[in-house]
Amino acid sequence: MVYPDTFKGFAVESYETWASPKEFEYKPKPFGSYDIDIKISACGVCGSDVHTVRGGWGDARLPLVVGHEIIGTAIKVGDKVSGIKVGDRVGVGAQIGSCMNCDDCKNDNEAYCEQRVGTYGGVYPVDNVDGAAGVVTQGGYASHIRAHEQFTFKIPDVLETHLVAPMMCAGITTYSPLVRNGCGPGKTVGIIGIGGLGHFGIQWAKALGADTVVAISRSDSKKQDALKLGADVFLATEKKGWNGEYKRKLDLIVNCANSTDGFALGEYLSLLKTHGRFINVGLPEGDGYKINPMSLLSNGVLIGTTHIGSKTEILEMLDLAAEKGIRPWVTTIPVSAAGCGEALEKCYQNKVRYRITLVDFDKAFGN
Ligand code: NDP
Repeated sequence: MVYPDTFKGFAVESYETWASPKEFEYKPKPFGSYDIDIKISACGVCGSDVHTVRGGWGDARLPLVVGHEIIGTAIKVGDKVSGIKVGDRVGVGAQIGSCMNCDDCKNDNEAYCEQRVGTYGGVYPVDNVDGAAGVVTQGGYASHIRAHEQFTFKIPDVLETHLVAPMMCAGITTYSPLVRNGCGPGKTVGIIGIGGLGHFGIQWAKALGADTVVAISRSDSKKQDALKLGADVFLATEKKGWNGEYKRKLDLIVNCANSTDGFALGEYLSLLKTHGRFINVGLPEGDGYKINPMSLLSNGVLIGTTHIGSKTEILEMLDLAAEKGIRPWVTTIPVSAAGCGEALEKCYQNKVRYRITLVDFDKAFGN
């Protein structure tokens, strides 16, 4: 029997074989009073999964089950859990632990806690109260996940399982930078990179009331989609002088690009008003782009980043999606060794419009 002693997933075993995950059985952390066991029914496939399994971000703890856009059913609930009961439909994103005591944890900044634990490839710290010290976390291409209640979110009934899954990471990673950087009425907001994250970014910016949303992509191929998603303006950077008309017109840019090949930072920055903000959420491999202080001078821009988002923001985002009918554009693939490999490969090749969700977990793992 797999659950409750062990969980089963599809793990990448080496960087060379990243597109060919294999079945893998593993022991989860010991069950704690605040833990919830979730039987997984859907999991989105994030650009971060691809960076990780290809070794693009440096050493990953292989074999590793990736996946951090998880939706499932709570099947066991710790005695100190409040607000979630057995049978509830719940979600888990890219974070599964933090110290719960530091200033960040107490101020809706748990994503920045120095002891944060990632949903996959993270390691529980030495002072973990549940005896989980040293346990490596495994993600959502799997039968189950064991998560602390702080990182488990009740899902509003109207949000469909395969569509809400990508909100757990791509959704919150674009919602948080927008709300933290003043997106709203009167603002002109740019979104760079129309992929899983970017296609949410356009929708959130519009729903938060931005006057003008500017989608910035490399070619024209996603123009019609971006306009349908709610963009008011579409700019293709492969065109000479693409930034001319919108120079100094934007208050905020959220950069969702997952690579820096040919990334002309100065041209993007030229779009910002004086002291406009360039918030980078994409996490490319390698050294990233270089910042020359001179290039910041002419419009005095501010460059920053955000990391996923807080529980408070995730619950707000889910309510906004439910209220305004916001949904990602999703292709589903049945979860299996081959299905996980196909999904990772398509994401790597930028062939996804705009998110893959793995489904049919019962068929792969049984009831
Ligand atoms: P996708 O592959 O779905 O989308 C990435 C998009 O980036 C592409 O569709 C493309 O858009 C654009 N792009 C790629 N290369 C370049 C380039 N050289 N210059 C300009 N644009 C480029 O990935 P995701 O949306 O899933 O993830 C995006 C990034 O965000 C990843 O690096 C991921 O690791 C990171 N991330 C960060 C998090 C955080 O907390 N900060 C959390 C989750 C993910 P187009 O075709 O329109 O040009």
